Amino acid sequence: MDHFRRIGALRRKLTRAGLPGLVVTHLPDLRYISGFTGSSAALAITSRAARLFTDGRYSAQAAEEVTAARVEIVSGAPSVAAVQWLAAQPGVDAAGFDASRATVAELAQWKAALPAHLRRAFLSVLPAPMVEQLRCVKDEDELALIIEAALAGCKLFEHVLSYIRPGLREIDVAAELEYQARLMGAEAMSFETIVASGVRSALPHGRATSALLPRRGFVTMDFGIILGGYCSDMTRTVYLGKPKAEERHTYNAVLEAQEAGLAAVSAGVSCGEVDEAARSVLRREGLAEAFSHSTGHGVGLEIHEPPRIGAGQMTRLRAGMVITIEPGVYLAGQYGIRIEDMVAVTPSGGQVLTPATKALIEL
Ligand code: ZN
Ligand code: ZN
Repeated sequence: MDHFRRIGALRRKLTRAGLPGLVVTHLPDLRYISGFTGSSAALAITSRAARLFTDGRYSAQAAEEVTAARVEIVSGAPSVAAVQWLAAQPGVDAAGFDASRATVAELAQWKAALPAHLRRAFLSVLPAPMVEQLRCVKDEDELALIIEAALAGCKLFEHVLSYIRPGLREIDVAAELEYQARLMGAEAMSFETIVASGVRSALPHGRATSALLPRRGFVTMDFGIILGGYCSDMTRTVYLGKPKAEERHTYNAVLEAQEAGLAAVSAGVSCGEVDEAARSVLRREGLAEAFSHSTGHGVGLEIHEPPRIGAGQMTRLRAGMVITIEPGVYLAGQYGIRIEDMVAVTPSGGQVLTPATKALIEL
């Protein structure tokens, strides 16, 4: 990872925003900019210097991971040290921070640590999260890790197909996915594994429970793994037994919506247009009400990142973004279906990163 290049890109953004300093506290942002993977740190950046503040537990790790910024070990809160350091830099009369990543208590601490004459105006809320904007577009190193994680997810899905059978608990299926993920080298799951079967598949976020898989019905599995810090995310819905014609019809409608969403992905297209491409298919089928969430989201160091692929979203896709396309239909008391792929935006379309089969599998 080229952290010098990322710091350079961040500095150009700061200059354009007329800000002489920036304090970064969100850990995935810190990791992106500096390479530091510990759980307690803050990064301060000016046009000339970059300094990472962390505590004594991380001195060896920070020395190893961080090459593009100087590291300073502090005994108090790293973010307070970062703000104080910024205020002491010549020519730095203001520092931006991401309000969505700071607590009211932190802001009070930062202000209290500043000299009296700087308390009112030194800290400046960023109009939009700056590092997060950079993180939207993935570089080649990041894409390689994401592709690896996504393909590992596909392998897990193929494996679990031979494991699923009626009578198992949902958590047995989740446990098998997670155990195999670990054997494949996953650092962790991207989020709590979703295994929702039978009527529970109508819950968009049905976490695996001790409910037994039915003899007949849908099973939705939504899961992801973290490799090299990067998340994968995919959903497949399979059927235990023989689906009724109406269930098969609904499945095909979701699949058609998902394919329409994928087909709409291309650099320059707005996120709202991609959402509409998927949503209009389900609307035509009279299933608009049953599709109760957005079509997708960005994925990277975090499982949910910008951009949001939702109705009316004006953000335009850019080559290098990695997003999900995951329409679903949820019929309370009956069943639910969701199909999700990860896709990398290219100048002329989208490259699907999760090529596992989407034809309705009957087990
Ligand atoms: Zn998912
Ligand atoms: Zn997702």
